[in-house]
Amino acid sequence: MARANDTTCLMSNAQSHKQLKISPARQAMVQQQLVARGISDPAVLRAMQEVPRERFVPESIRDAACEDRALPVGNGQTISQPYIVAYMTEKLQVRPEHRVLEIGTGTGYQTAILHRLGAEVYSVERIAHLHESARQRLADLGFGPVHLRCGDGTLGWPEHAPYDRIIVTAGAPETPAPLVEQLAESGRIVIPIGRRDYQVLICVEKREGRTVETTLIPCRFVGLIGQQGWPQAEH
Ligand code: SAH
Repeated sequence: MARANDTTCLMSNAQSHKQLKISPARQAMVQQQLVARGISDPAVLRAMQEVPRERFVPESIRDAACEDRALPVGNGQTISQPYIVAYMTEKLQVRPEHRVLEIGTGTGYQTAILHRLGAEVYSVERIAHLHESARQRLADLGFGPVHLRCGDGTLGWPEHAPYDRIIVTAGAPETPAPLVEQLAESGRIVIPIGRRDYQVLICVEKREGRTVETTLIPCRFVGLIGQQGWPQAEH
Protein backbone atom coordinates (compact mmCIF):
# COMPACT_ATOMS: atom_id res chain seq x y z
CA MET A 1 0.00 0.00 0.00
CA ALA A 2 1.43 3.39 -0.96
CA ARG A 3 1.98 5.91 1.82
CA ALA A 4 0.20 9.24 1.76
CA ASN A 5 3.11 11.17 0.21
CA ASP A 6 3.79 8.55 -2.46
CA THR A 7 2.88 9.46 -5.98
CA THR A 8 3.48 6.09 -7.46
CA CYS A 9 2.05 5.79 -10.90
CA LEU A 10 1.74 3.24 -13.60
CA MET A 11 1.90 4.47 -17.14
CA SER A 12 0.55 3.23 -20.38
CA ASN A 13 2.76 0.67 -22.05
CA ALA A 14 1.07 1.14 -25.38
CA GLN A 15 4.25 2.32 -27.07
CA SER A 16 6.85 0.42 -25.07
CA HIS A 17 7.93 -1.80 -27.96
CA LYS A 18 7.45 0.85 -30.55
CA GLN A 19 10.14 1.46 -33.13
CA LEU A 20 11.66 4.82 -32.23
CA LYS A 21 13.01 7.24 -34.77
CA ILE A 22 16.78 7.71 -34.73
CA SER A 23 17.96 11.26 -35.36
CA PRO A 24 21.30 12.09 -37.04
CA ALA A 25 22.32 14.09 -33.94
CA ARG A 26 21.81 11.06 -31.71
CA GLN A 27 23.57 8.78 -34.16
CA ALA A 28 26.58 11.10 -34.14
CA MET A 29 26.44 11.31 -30.32
CA VAL A 30 26.58 7.51 -30.06
CA GLN A 31 29.47 7.13 -32.51
CA GLN A 32 31.61 10.08 -31.43
CA GLN A 33 31.00 10.18 -27.69
CA LEU A 34 30.19 6.59 -26.77
CA VAL A 35 31.61 4.05 -29.25
CA ALA A 36 34.80 6.10 -29.67
CA ARG A 37 35.31 6.04 -25.88
CA GLY A 38 34.77 2.33 -25.44
CA ILE A 39 31.06 1.84 -24.73
CA SER A 40 30.31 -1.44 -26.49
CA ASP A 41 27.16 -3.06 -25.06
CA PRO A 42 24.84 -3.13 -28.11
CA ALA A 43 21.68 -2.82 -26.00
CA VAL A 44 23.03 0.29 -24.26
CA LEU A 45 24.11 1.85 -27.56
CA ARG A 46 20.72 1.09 -29.10
CA ALA A 47 18.84 2.64 -26.16
CA MET A 48 21.03 5.77 -26.27
CA GLN A 49 20.33 6.04 -29.98
CA GLU A 50 16.59 5.56 -29.63
CA VAL A 51 15.62 7.60 -26.57
CA PRO A 52 14.95 11.18 -27.75
CA ARG A 53 17.34 13.04 -25.42
CA GLU A 54 16.24 16.36 -26.95
CA ARG A 55 12.79 15.84 -25.42
CA PHE A 56 14.26 15.66 -21.89
CA VAL A 57 15.89 19.11 -21.86
CA PRO A 58 14.20 22.53 -21.74
CA GLU A 59 13.00 23.60 -25.18
CA SER A 60 15.32 26.63 -25.19
CA ILE A 61 18.41 24.36 -25.23
CA ARG A 62 17.03 21.53 -27.36
CA ASP A 63 19.66 22.11 -30.07
CA ALA A 64 22.38 21.44 -27.49
CA ALA A 65 20.76 18.22 -26.17
CA CYS A 66 23.29 15.84 -27.73
CA GLU A 67 26.38 17.86 -26.88
CA ASP A 68 29.16 16.21 -24.93
CA ARG A 69 28.25 17.69 -21.51
CA ALA A 70 25.71 17.84 -18.72
CA LEU A 71 22.97 20.44 -19.20
CA PRO A 72 20.92 22.50 -16.73
CA VAL A 73 17.29 21.41 -16.46
CA GLY A 74 15.96 23.81 -13.79
CA ASN A 75 15.75 23.70 -9.98
CA GLY A 76 19.58 23.77 -9.90
CA GLN A 77 19.65 20.23 -11.33
CA THR A 78 21.23 18.77 -14.45
CA ILE A 79 20.78 16.01 -17.01
CA SER A 80 24.02 14.00 -17.07
CA GLN A 81 26.48 13.98 -19.97
CA PRO A 82 25.56 11.25 -22.50
CA TYR A 83 28.84 9.40 -21.89
CA ILE A 84 28.22 9.21 -18.12
CA VAL A 85 24.67 7.90 -18.65
CA ALA A 86 25.95 5.23 -21.07
CA TYR A 87 28.94 4.35 -18.86
CA MET A 88 26.86 3.93 -15.70
CA THR A 89 24.23 1.93 -17.58
CA GLU A 90 26.85 -0.38 -19.08
CA LYS A 91 28.47 -0.94 -15.68
CA LEU A 92 25.08 -1.71 -14.17
CA GLN A 93 24.75 -4.72 -16.55
CA VAL A 94 20.96 -4.50 -16.77
CA ARG A 95 19.10 -7.52 -18.12
CA PRO A 96 15.46 -7.49 -19.22
CA GLU A 97 14.26 -9.50 -16.22
CA HIS A 98 15.84 -7.11 -13.70
CA ARG A 99 14.06 -4.95 -11.17
CA VAL A 100 16.00 -1.69 -11.11
CA LEU A 101 15.84 1.13 -8.57
CA GLU A 102 17.00 4.58 -9.68
CA ILE A 103 17.60 7.38 -7.18
CA GLY A 104 17.35 10.85 -8.75
CA THR A 105 14.74 10.70 -11.53
CA GLY A 106 15.54 14.27 -12.62
CA THR A 107 14.26 14.62 -16.17
CA GLY A 108 13.50 10.90 -16.49
CA TYR A 109 16.12 10.43 -19.22
CA GLN A 110 18.06 7.70 -17.41
CA THR A 111 14.71 6.17 -16.40
CA ALA A 112 13.75 5.92 -20.08
CA ILE A 113 17.10 4.30 -20.97
CA LEU A 114 16.62 1.66 -18.24
CA HIS A 115 13.06 1.05 -19.37
CA ARG A 116 14.20 0.66 -22.95
CA LEU A 117 16.59 -2.10 -21.78
CA GLY A 118 13.51 -4.03 -20.68
CA ALA A 119 13.97 -3.61 -16.92
CA GLU A 120 11.16 -3.04 -14.45
CA VAL A 121 12.09 0.45 -13.29
CA TYR A 122 11.39 2.13 -9.94
CA SER A 123 12.65 5.69 -9.68
CA VAL A 124 12.62 8.18 -6.79
CA GLU A 125 13.00 11.98 -7.02
CA ARG A 126 12.97 14.37 -4.06
CA ILE A 127 11.88 17.56 -5.88
CA ALA A 128 8.13 17.41 -6.48
CA HIS A 129 8.21 19.62 -9.57
CA LEU A 130 10.85 17.46 -11.29
CA HIS A 131 9.05 14.27 -10.30
CA GLU A 132 5.81 15.56 -11.78
CA SER A 133 7.33 16.79 -15.04
CA ALA A 134 9.27 13.54 -15.49
CA ARG A 135 6.05 11.60 -14.94
CA GLN A 136 4.27 13.69 -17.55
CA ARG A 137 7.15 13.54 -20.03
CA LEU A 138 7.61 9.76 -19.79
CA ALA A 139 3.86 9.27 -20.25
CA ASP A 140 3.76 11.64 -23.24
CA LEU A 141 6.69 9.83 -24.88
CA GLY A 142 5.17 6.42 -24.17
CA PHE A 143 7.91 5.12 -21.85
CA GLY A 144 6.04 2.90 -19.49
CA PRO A 145 5.03 1.31 -17.34
CA VAL A 146 7.60 2.82 -14.96
CA HIS A 147 7.07 3.36 -11.24
CA LEU A 148 7.86 6.85 -9.98
CA ARG A 149 7.83 8.20 -6.48
CA CYS A 150 8.48 11.59 -4.90
CA GLY A 151 10.49 11.28 -1.71
CA ASP A 152 13.88 10.77 -0.10
CA GLY A 153 15.66 8.15 -2.20
CA THR A 154 18.48 7.74 0.32
CA LEU A 155 15.98 5.49 2.12
CA GLY A 156 15.40 3.47 -1.06
CA TRP A 157 11.93 2.18 -1.83
CA PRO A 158 11.56 -0.72 0.65
CA GLU A 159 8.09 -1.80 -0.46
CA HIS A 160 9.42 -3.21 -3.76
CA ALA A 161 12.81 -4.54 -2.58
CA PRO A 162 14.93 -6.45 -3.30
CA TYR A 163 16.34 -4.84 -6.44
CA ASP A 164 18.71 -6.57 -8.85
CA ARG A 165 20.30 -3.26 -9.73
CA ILE A 166 20.41 0.18 -8.10
CA ILE A 167 21.67 3.32 -9.83
CA VAL A 168 22.16 6.59 -7.98
CA THR A 169 22.47 9.68 -10.18
CA ALA A 170 23.38 12.20 -7.48
CA GLY A 171 26.67 12.42 -5.55
CA ALA A 172 26.66 10.86 -2.06
CA PRO A 173 29.10 11.11 0.88
CA GLU A 174 28.85 7.30 1.18
CA THR A 175 26.60 4.48 -0.01
CA PRO A 176 23.31 4.81 1.91
CA ALA A 177 22.85 1.70 4.09
CA PRO A 178 19.17 1.22 3.09
CA LEU A 179 20.23 0.81 -0.54
CA VAL A 180 22.68 -1.97 0.37
CA GLU A 181 19.93 -3.61 2.44
CA GLN A 182 17.48 -3.42 -0.46
CA LEU A 183 19.95 -4.91 -2.95
CA ALA A 184 19.35 -8.54 -4.00
CA GLU A 185 22.02 -11.21 -3.66
CA SER A 186 24.39 -10.96 -6.70
CA GLY A 187 23.01 -7.48 -7.28
CA ARG A 188 25.00 -4.34 -8.01
CA ILE A 189 24.81 -0.64 -7.23
CA VAL A 190 26.48 2.08 -9.31
CA ILE A 191 26.82 5.30 -7.32
CA PRO A 192 28.98 8.46 -7.31
CA ILE A 193 30.73 8.81 -3.93
CA GLY A 194 32.87 11.69 -2.68
CA ARG A 195 32.74 15.38 -1.92
CA ARG A 196 29.91 17.79 -2.72
CA ASP A 197 31.65 19.01 -5.89
CA TYR A 198 33.65 15.96 -7.02
CA GLN A 199 33.06 12.22 -6.86
CA VAL A 200 34.21 8.85 -8.12
CA LEU A 201 31.83 6.26 -9.51
CA ILE A 202 31.74 3.15 -7.37
CA CYS A 203 30.28 -0.26 -8.19
CA VAL A 204 29.06 -2.17 -5.12
CA GLU A 205 28.31 -5.87 -5.60
CA LYS A 206 26.59 -8.13 -3.07
CA ARG A 207 28.11 -11.60 -2.95
CA GLU A 208 26.94 -14.09 -0.33
CA GLY A 209 25.65 -11.25 1.80
CA ARG A 210 28.94 -9.31 1.72
CA THR A 211 29.69 -6.26 -0.39
CA VAL A 212 32.60 -5.86 -2.76
CA GLU A 213 33.45 -2.38 -4.06
CA THR A 214 35.16 -1.45 -7.31
CA THR A 215 36.31 2.08 -8.07
CA LEU A 216 35.49 3.30 -11.58
CA ILE A 217 35.96 6.80 -13.03
CA PRO A 218 35.86 10.36 -11.64
CA CYS A 219 32.66 12.32 -12.16
CA ARG A 220 30.68 15.34 -10.99
CA PHE A 221 27.05 15.10 -9.92
CA VAL A 222 24.70 17.36 -7.98
CA GLY A 223 24.36 16.33 -4.33
CA LEU A 224 22.27 13.46 -3.01
CA ILE A 225 20.29 15.19 -0.29
CA GLY A 226 18.47 13.31 2.42
CA GLN A 227 18.60 11.39 5.67
CA GLN A 228 21.41 9.14 4.42
CA GLY A 229 23.00 11.71 2.10
CA TRP A 230 24.05 15.36 2.37
CA PRO A 231 22.07 17.37 4.94
CA GLN A 232 20.73 20.12 2.67
CA ALA A 233 20.87 21.81 -0.71
CA GLU A 234 24.00 23.90 -1.35
CA HIS A 235 23.35 27.51 -2.26
N1 SAH B 1 19.11 10.89 -13.81
C1 SAH B 1 18.70 12.26 -14.08
C2 SAH B 1 19.70 13.29 -13.63
C3 SAH B 1 19.74 13.35 -12.18
S1 SAH B 1 20.33 14.87 -11.47
C4 SAH B 1 18.38 12.45 -15.54
O1 SAH B 1 18.59 11.53 -16.33
O2 SAH B 1 17.88 13.52 -15.88
C5 SAH B 1 20.17 14.36 -9.80
C6 SAH B 1 18.76 14.28 -9.28
O3 SAH B 1 18.79 13.69 -7.99
C7 SAH B 1 18.12 15.66 -9.10
O4 SAH B 1 16.91 15.71 -9.79
C8 SAH B 1 17.92 15.75 -7.59
O5 SAH B 1 16.78 16.49 -7.22
C9 SAH B 1 17.79 14.28 -7.21
N2 SAH B 1 18.02 13.97 -5.80
C10 SAH B 1 18.94 14.48 -4.95
N3 SAH B 1 18.83 13.91 -3.74
C11 SAH B 1 17.82 12.99 -3.83
C12 SAH B 1 17.22 12.07 -2.92
N4 SAH B 1 17.62 11.96 -1.64
N5 SAH B 1 16.22 11.31 -3.35
C13 SAH B 1 15.77 11.40 -4.64
N6 SAH B 1 16.29 12.24 -5.54
C14 SAH B 1 17.30 13.03 -5.14
